Amino acid sequence: MASYPDLHLLIGGEKLGLEAREHEDVIDPATGETIGTLPRATEADLDAALENAERGFRQWRKTPADKRASTLMKAAALIKERAGDIAYGLTREQGKPLAEAKGETIYSAMLLEFYAGECKRLYGRTLVRPQGQRAEVQYHPVGPVAGFAAWNFPSLNVMRKIGGALAAGCSVIVKPSEETPSAGIAMVQACLDAGVPGDVVQCVFGVPDHVSRHLLGSSVIRKVTFTGSTAVGKHLAKLAADDLKIATMELGGHGPVLVFKDADIDKALDTMAANKYRNAGQVCVSPTRFLIEEDVFEKFRDGFVARAEKVKVGNGLEDGMQMGPMASARGLERMEGLTGNAKEKGAKLLTGGERIGNQGFFHQPTVLSEVPTDAEIMNEEPFGPVAILNPMRGEDAMIAEANRLPYGLAAYAWTQDGARKQRLAAEIEAGMLAINGGTVSAVDAPFGGVKWSGYGSEDGREGVMACMVTKTVHEG
Ligand code: NAD
Repeated sequence: MASYPDLHLLIGGEKLGLEAREHEDVIDPATGETIGTLPRATEADLDAALENAERGFRQWRKTPADKRASTLMKAAALIKERAGDIAYGLTREQGKPLAEAKGETIYSAMLLEFYAGECKRLYGRTLVRPQGQRAEVQYHPVGPVAGFAAWNFPSLNVMRKIGGALAAGCSVIVKPSEETPSAGIAMVQACLDAGVPGDVVQCVFGVPDHVSRHLLGSSVIRKVTFTGSTAVGKHLAKLAADDLKIATMELGGHGPVLVFKDADIDKALDTMAANKYRNAGQVCVSPTRFLIEEDVFEKFRDGFVARAEKVKVGNGLEDGMQMGPMASARGLERMEGLTGNAKEKGAKLLTGGERIGNQGFFHQPTVLSEVPTDAEIMNEEPFGPVAILNPMRGEDAMIAEANRLPYGLAAYAWTQDGARKQRLAAEIEAGMLAINGGTVSAVDAPFGGVKWSGYGSEDGREGVMACMVTKTVHEG
């Protein structure tokens, strides 16, 4: 029988527990019970982590790429071996169904495998000049990285922070979310157990603003990478700018879904309804604003509501659950505020709209339709299990609505028309566009947004290159 693991910091390869440290409780969002106590790093802990990271970087950057690759492959194998236990802890702290937690953990290992392979392909290039001179473009790891990960994908978000950095030859200090610490600790521990030195990969917790100010206030850190809200992303980007650290920002979205009358409507419904309620809608690439050509609006609306009403909601540890609780009481409050405001503005509530029970943070799968543009939910990321279904007339209006918001992370389109697919690819302002499918993430493809959804990419070759700088050596 699995149990929720002990929680600690990992600094210099040492597990540092409560001792005299301040601490906070970790809550199971399915029951509201306290399941763990998490130590907060002291100022001295953070200074030690920085000192280690500086030393670790000097060593790791010189470690041959094939040695880095084989170590990271071993860490990926350990994560796969431990996926059952890691997923149990992840479900307890975050709420998602166990199968999803396991899938996320295996995917985290697959991402590390991809990065391990990629770090052997970090070639430079030679520019040959007519008179025998040449210039060599070299790639070097940028330096120690500070990563801040959100709670919605407790293992994957952490792997996205540490995987690219380690592959590039950087040391990294990661702060997983204090709300979902165990899966992040497990990612770092697997790297340590595989042979990544203890001063190269470290894990800290604390009051987020204190930790980020402390780490970003140090000139040791040369890159910051963050997943979370646009508001916090802007704040961290400003802190990074004070020392001209490079930054990768993976922030919020407001996924538009353009459904044209020539689409395979049943496939669109099956794919997008499942996608909407995955992880209770707490996904930065979640489909949110469904813009549906009016000829097929009623069919799509009725099919979507029927599917929303069939979603099995319950404790993620129980068999057959498709949606767990929201990860925190904050999420429930946001849902209540945004759906209430939408109704006041004249939106129709087609299903859901209520909290389920009074234990834990469960919310009904919710569908709103005919939501006016001035409703808050049309402008703010709901980050919850709610879909907005709006009838639209014509491609131009649909593209204009898709691009109306300052966000540009993931977008989705359903159409059979080849020329239209090309127009959408050219016109939609987003970092990722899925056409006739729901997948916008793959280990070998860059993942990231434009506009207020952030900048820089994780995953793919770009995820490693984001931790590197060029040096051009001119000769002759
Ligand atoms: P948030 O931005 O306050 O917190 C997200 C994560 O960032 C948390 O893990 C938190 O510990 C960390 N964080 C917060 N302040 C920080 C700081 N000063 N320095 C370093 N780390 C910091 O968001 P939230 O309240 O958890 O959720 C609110 C909204 O954020 C959501 O509605 C959604 O729009 C967005 N969000 C996006 C993602 C994503 O995947 N892009 C993930 C989580 C939240």
